[in-house]
Amino acid sequence: MKKLQYERPLIQRLNTGLMNKFGMKTEYTPHTHIDEVSVKSLIKEFGSPLFVISEKTIRNTYKEANRAFKTRYPKVQFAWSYKTNYINAVCNVFHQEGSWAEVVSGFEYHKALNNGVPGSKIIFNGPDKSEDDLRAAINNESPIHIDHLDELYHLNELAVEMNKRPKVAIRVNMDTGVYPMWDRFGFNYENGQAWDAINKIILADKLDLVGLHSHIGTFMLSPSAYGVAASKLSDLALGIKKKYKKNILYLDMGGGFASKNTLKGSFLQGVDTNPNFDQFAEAISTAILNAGFGTDELPLLVLETGRALIDDAGYLLGSVISNKRLSDGRRATILDFGVNVMFTSFWYDHKISPAQDFGNYTEDSVLYGPLCMNIDVIREHITLPPLKRNDHVVVHTVGAYNMTQWMQFIALRPAVVMIDMKNKVHLIRKRENLEYLEACEVKPDYLKSFKL
Ligand SMILES: *Cc1c(COP(=O)(O)O)cnc(C)c1O
Repeated sequence: MKKLQYERPLIQRLNTGLMNKFGMKTEYTPHTHIDEVSVKSLIKEFGSPLFVISEKTIRNTYKEANRAFKTRYPKVQFAWSYKTNYINAVCNVFHQEGSWAEVVSGFEYHKALNNGVPGSKIIFNGPDKSEDDLRAAINNESPIHIDHLDELYHLNELAVEMNKRPKVAIRVNMDTGVYPMWDRFGFNYENGQAWDAINKIILADKLDLVGLHSHIGTFMLSPSAYGVAASKLSDLALGIKKKYKKNILYLDMGGGFASKNTLKGSFLQGVDTNPNFDQFAEAISTAILNAGFGTDELPLLVLETGRALIDDAGYLLGSVISNKRLSDGRRATILDFGVNVMFTSFWYDHKISPAQDFGNYTEDSVLYGPLCMNIDVIREHITLPPLKRNDHVVVHTVGAYNMTQWMQFIALRPAVVMIDMKNKVHLIRKRENLEYLEACEVKPDYLKSFKL
């Protein structure tokens, strides 16, 4: 038997049940395995840092969201928000579960097509759709969500030229009681812009207005705001029915449901306090069901939930480069991943666990990334056991946005693996190398040589 390491005795005061100035401190436990695969073996095979995605967690979370909505509302359709995580393997897990695609750029649109999503099931959002993008979307009968009047007029023009009737929705922004209001996208409900756009579409009679869309914000902690948004979209849909005798086929409530992360400065842990899918589903379905639609006119409810479906499934594994003491005596630990691959550390206090056993002693520390840049801070304060050089850590809840907003500043992007339903590991994105980085560079001939 291996001899246990000596550790000095430690007396620690325990405050049971009471909150102290650190909130309800949860004790850390070592996180040595993800879906029964050992963290050490993953790092050994694929290097450090490494993103790990649990297919099991994605499917379970999706089923949970689907259940929450489908038990409350008869017609529900999810559309996977590509910008939240557009690694093809991830997208295809959602498509296998029945999710359509929701994209906000031309390349995302083509990514969805290449993944095999039928054009009619790709929702095209965003303020910047090029003419080529719009033509492709019109030809494929994709629902185009109009962001501004210039786009509306452009679509009218293309419809005539291409002799087609594009399927469109308008994006509506509104006061839902959550501030600051996201009023830069789409048409405002309160000041009449939304009705202006609706009238212009229907009276010009070149586009087929099939839906109404809103996406009221991101990391929203208040289900009731969605209730307000769903009521206002329902009001528009019923108004269109009354004025033009036209049924709106779907209401798209966008995304933005908070994941289980903890916002910086929050007193309590997100996992304990953030609303769950049932609460969002209750607010939205109640608002639509009570709005006054006839039974055969109930619109399809579309949801573009991103972060709440994928955040939990993503982990980032890393290694300790060094420990040092700051000038005030605080312990600092330098890790091999920074804000270059963990953009979300600007907003969240991500949960970080050591990946090996440790004793009782803990110390308040600051965690830095490896970049030569002062803002490269992963956690400003965290209570952790001492970590040695080459020890490993597991960052939790990093599945949303990190694998799309990551950048090649100072360090290249790490590999991404997915652990499948049978706990088998698949490489789904290779570690980047210099060749990849330089693939798009062009060096003019006259700059190819120099003498030093
Ligand atoms: C980003 C985005 C989403 C997804 O938002 P989450 O906060 O990840 O749920 C959905 N719809 C639109 C239009 C978006 O821009």
